[in-house]
Amino acid sequence: MSDIIQLLPDVVANQIAAGEVVQRPASVVKELLENAVDAKATDIKLIIVDAGRSLIQVIDNGSGMSQTDARMSFERHATSKIKTADDLFNLFSNGFRGEALASIAAIAHVTLKTKQENQELGTQIQINGGEIISQELISKPTGTSIEVKNLFYNIPARRNFLKSNTIETRHIIDAFQRVALTYPNINFSLIHNDNEIFRLPTGNSKLESGNLKQRIVNVFGKKIDEKLVPIHEETEILKIGGFIAKPNYAKKKRGEQFFFVNGRFIKSHYLHHAVLGGFENLIPHGYHPSYFLYLTVPPKSIDINIHPTKTEVKFDNEKDLYAIIRSTIKHSLGQYNVAPVLDFEKNPSLDTPYEYKNKDINSPLVNINPEFNPFKNEENSKSFFQKKDLNPSWESLYASVENSETEKDNTSQNLFDADIENSGNSTFQIHQKYILSTIRSGIVLIDQNAAHQRILYEDFLKKITVVGIGKQQLLFPKEFSVNKNDTQIILDLKSDLENAGFQFDILKNEIVSVKAIPASLKEDQIINLFEMLIDNIKNEVPNSNFSQFDSIAKSLAKSTAIKKGTKLSIKEQEEIVNNLFLCKEPNFSPFGKKTFITITTKELEDKFNF
Ligand code: ADP
Ligand code: MG
Repeated sequence: MSDIIQLLPDVVANQIAAGEVVQRPASVVKELLENAVDAKATDIKLIIVDAGRSLIQVIDNGSGMSQTDARMSFERHATSKIKTADDLFNLFSNGFRGEALASIAAIAHVTLKTKQENQELGTQIQINGGEIISQELISKPTGTSIEVKNLFYNIPARRNFLKSNTIETRHIIDAFQRVALTYPNINFSLIHNDNEIFRLPTGNSKLESGNLKQRIVNVFGKKIDEKLVPIHEETEILKIGGFIAKPNYAKKKRGEQFFFVNGRFIKSHYLHHAVLGGFENLIPHGYHPSYFLYLTVPPKSIDINIHPTKTEVKFDNEKDLYAIIRSTIKHSLGQYNVAPVLDFEKNPSLDTPYEYKNKDINSPLVNINPEFNPFKNEENSKSFFQKKDLNPSWESLYASVENSETEKDNTSQNLFDADIENSGNSTFQIHQKYILSTIRSGIVLIDQNAAHQRILYEDFLKKITVVGIGKQQLLFPKEFSVNKNDTQIILDLKSDLENAGFQFDILKNEIVSVKAIPASLKEDQIINLFEMLIDNIKNEVPNSNFSQFDSIAKSLAKSTAIKKGTKLSIKEQEEIVNNLFLCKEPNFSPFGKKTFITITTKELEDKFNF
């Protein structure tokens, strides 16, 4: 039989590689912008026509290329950025695989114009579908311009896969913003169909953070300006800079969430979760915080996936980074008086696992007036819900609870029955859903389910991490089956679950056999609880102790909390009311739902006067 193996022609190989590098117009944008940055440009202009289908052009004032290099740049594995294997580990530029230009040229009509500073004339090269059509000398200013026309013209399948212009443009803008935010010291502009969408001049601040702030404001609009809180932390394993937006800037849509690690934009679900942890309970359910965080870690401690289109990284010590980020954010929100400190000091897994070098750990400022007693009558101080106009703010609630260690015992009674004239009930249940009580300034309506979840959650968290939960042996083991994947999750949680009062084995065929459960749990809640737990864990962060305790406490709280539709005795109602306001974070359920609302007498009066 004759030989049948052949080498692929370069053009075909490049087309195949192109599929990897270039998924959509935005991928071209990313590659070209990064090349311009690597060429030390200080001014970079991106021009787009028809969401990049007709034209993507990047013009820079960088180093430019010699005639030979201009031609070489379209060869596969042609790069000026790596000479030895060692360079791979000390990489400060963006590209290095030398594949982008070759790939792009294989699937589009490309015109390159480039000139170096010391050259009289520049070079222009035309390449269509990987084939060089022409090369000539031209006159042009120093720098490089690359025009990419008719992307995917020779790969109809790809072209047909492109989404609507709106979506492709969105991707292009995302790619542009990421690069622009990575390099606040470079001027960028973006012109789409002849409209200038972004003009991002560099700042004139002497401080790097000032320029970064200006860049963020130029990209996202003036509204974000006074909402930005600077972040700064320096430890041996991680340096953090950048900004977060205050909780009241949180948005319904996700999007303004940026991590840069050692000068590269990355995505990390894990670190994102750490940031969310920092904002815990300050942002209502369904809203997303904005953040622009610039992390620096020792290069050896990360593995940036070198796949050109991937933005994921792997950190050696991600648990530590998680804890540092989370507490830094909490710290900063506290320091700038945005929020009080919310950490559960009792959770040992959250102990900051690093040394603050030569530095006192300053407690974030929570303004507590030692004289202020929210629970006293009016002549002493304003009522607690009146302190900040009509809205009970977090600070006032928190300060009052925090402040009242010694008052805890009489707190709740005073707070809630001060205004009750007759000796009747101090609480009422409404439609077996809400508990109504009066307060000096008006009324408070408590969601019984959300409030009870909050109470139980804090209680469980404390017990799991510190005290341990009492357990009850089951007469007969409760058995149920789960899938393979979930078996692993449950196994991983075993010791935590045992702390929480469970005792179980995993039998053959993914059968879970539960022998003992926490004292407060009912037998018929077991399956539901495990399902919820697995679900929570899947949606949260792997390998974080905190998250596991947290998930267990949350799931237990949700399963065992009093449901809507449950009739409560006066005593039970009062217990909820009292215990809720002894919680560290009474405003929200562990899932971010509001636990209560207040209506002031003034608001009631207004309603009657209309
Ligand atoms: P890589 O960036 O991985 O090296 P590319 O295919 O993106 O590979 O680019 C190949 C080479 O072309 C680069 O290494 C660089 O030398 C040169 N080059 C590309 N774009 C520019 C530019 N805008 N200015 C100067 N040189 C460039
Ligand atoms: Mg490149």
